Amino acid sequence: MTNFAVQSEPSTAVNIFSELEKHDYEQLIFCSDPKVGLKAIIAIHNTTLGPALGGTRMWSYHSEAESIVDALRLARGMTYKAAVARLNLGGGKAVIIGDSKTDKSEALFRTYGRFVEGLAGRYITAEDVGTNVRDMEWVRMETKYVTGISRALGGSGDPSPVTALGVYMGMKAACSERYGNDSLNRKKIVVQGAGHVAYHLCGYLRSEGAVVYVSDLYEEKARRIVNEYGAIYVAPDDVYDQDAHIFCPAALGGVLNDETIPRMRFEIIAGCANNQLKDEVVHEQMLIDRDILYAPDFVINAGGLINVANELEGYNQERALAQAREIYDVIKDILSIAKRKKITPNSAAIHLAEDRLAKIGQIKSIYAGHSSYAGRLGEMNARGMLLKT
Ligand code: NAD
Repeated sequence: MTNFAVQSEPSTAVNIFSELEKHDYEQLIFCSDPKVGLKAIIAIHNTTLGPALGGTRMWSYHSEAESIVDALRLARGMTYKAAVARLNLGGGKAVIIGDSKTDKSEALFRTYGRFVEGLAGRYITAEDVGTNVRDMEWVRMETKYVTGISRALGGSGDPSPVTALGVYMGMKAACSERYGNDSLNRKKIVVQGAGHVAYHLCGYLRSEGAVVYVSDLYEEKARRIVNEYGAIYVAPDDVYDQDAHIFCPAALGGVLNDETIPRMRFEIIAGCANNQLKDEVVHEQMLIDRDILYAPDFVINAGGLINVANELEGYNQERALAQAREIYDVIKDILSIAKRKKITPNSAAIHLAEDRLAKIGQIKSIYAGHSSYAGRLGEMNARGMLLKT
């Protein structure tokens, strides 16, 4: 059996095929080109709903085993995220092993692009931690299977306005569950981080009459929202102690942890940051014990994925925004499943995703008739793949 020992922890190993079987992964691809310093891993978890889409992360992993585990974990998360967001996309993710500050080059990303192209559309990439729009433009020189390209090149550009609308709608849905109506008027909302998403989100919140408190490590970023929208500035260290209804993590992950949760008097947590729970099981339970309603991050922040998914069909921001509005219904469904089944919101979200995967996977067992076959033949003919008689 293929076995990758973790160098720093000799007792830990990744048994690749057992890992793939454990969570039904479809494919794991290793891409290597020492001439350009490329070591990349592409993980495809599930393509029931469509091509696997997920970003390419560039990171200095401590070991190859760690990079494999990360690619697998992130790919599976993408399957659930796309399924819950009602997108026809599967789950995939890629990692490039390297230092994003020193190891980038045109040749590296174009070589990587050729490997992606070789997968013939089973995997579509995008930017992620450690990669940016510029890198993806190099990837795009070698493959059409890349999304999240700048507006100037015909892509969807900055996803933040769409993400912000999704978070706003998800927050309203959480209020509807908690208070019996979804109005944010006079609700006190603490927004942690004053970056791209928070900027657009605070506009929505203030236009509905919410009292918004905002903080950022760079005070001037928070001050911009204070000045433009009439929010109230809070120092970064004080956010968890605020007496407010809603906490909106919009900075980094891991902020719901042993140290912060006991300080919280919030009633709802609803924000865009990825991986908010430091430990998914332990800290979601801590929130439940404190009667804090948690809107799962990977559901409420799906606007970014919705945005890039729209790029694949020819980008139209109105359509992307309309889909992001549907996050309202998805959050309502999840919270009602959680209540009915007495499970956590995160578990309910996974349940909803698995339900859709099972139902949509099953429809493919029905033969769709001659036309789809003819359509495929026509396509092959157009590409010159059929022999002329
Ligand atoms: P951003 O980098 O523009 O903003 C993040 C802000 O948080 C920065 O201004 C940073 O200074 C601040 N910050 C960092 N640590 C902080 C702390 N401890 N206290 C207060 N402020 C702090 O990022 P963004 O695009 O607005 O995204 C915000 C979060 O949402 C990230 O976790 C991102 O992964 C996630 N997310 C973003 C999108 C999107 O469309 N941009 C989509 C899905 C998820």
